[in-house]
Amino acid sequence: MEDKLDQLPGIYDAFEREAASYKKDAACGKGCAYCCTDAGSIDITTLEGLAIRAEILRLPRPLQLKVQKALSRDMKKRESGKPNPCPFLLKSRACMIYDQRPFACRRIYSLHVCNVERPPVLHRPVMKLADDTIRRLQILDDTGYTGHISFILFMLDNPQFLETYLAGEHRPEEIMEFGKSHRIFINRSVQRNP
Ligand code: SF4
Repeated sequence: MEDKLDQLPGIYDAFEREAASYKKDAACGKGCAYCCTDAGSIDITTLEGLAIRAEILRLPRPLQLKVQKALSRDMKKRESGKPNPCPFLLKSRACMIYDQRPFACRRIYSLHVCNVERPPVLHRPVMKLADDTIRRLQILDDTGYTGHISFILFMLDNPQFLETYLAGEHRPEEIMEFGKSHRIFINRSVQRNP
């Protein structure tokens, strides 16, 4: 799994390089955080979740507890179908896990300043590039899953699931019920059905 984790930055960097000429037109500015407050599902792979989990464990204990509370709150809101700002968004509108933020956050920018009536607008080639990058991430994480950030972190907090996942084993039956009710995708299935 360490070997796979080491490959994440390379995949993110390749996207950044290829999207750079488009992203220079972005209207995004410091402190905007529209994508983090009005976020739809922030979909991540389990491998990205593992990197974020390690980042959380490096935080001071009181902050870790705060994050856990924010993640539980987010789960409850999302389970009842309500939108919620990202649990990692600080009051200062900075990202608590910026260096480990998932690809869902790296791919987003907008050609105009966004508001409720004007959601983000991206260049079409970058959207295609982002879809290809997601596929690369899912192929890399071929024993894993994809779903909303707090749901994936919840799964990784389950000792039995974590043990299976870290052993490189693939037992979808372990998360079948939760997966169905929380829109969790099996990466292998997504790969087979592009
Ligand atoms: S992880 Fe960070 S960048 Fe991504 S939505 Fe949350 S606060 Fe924003």
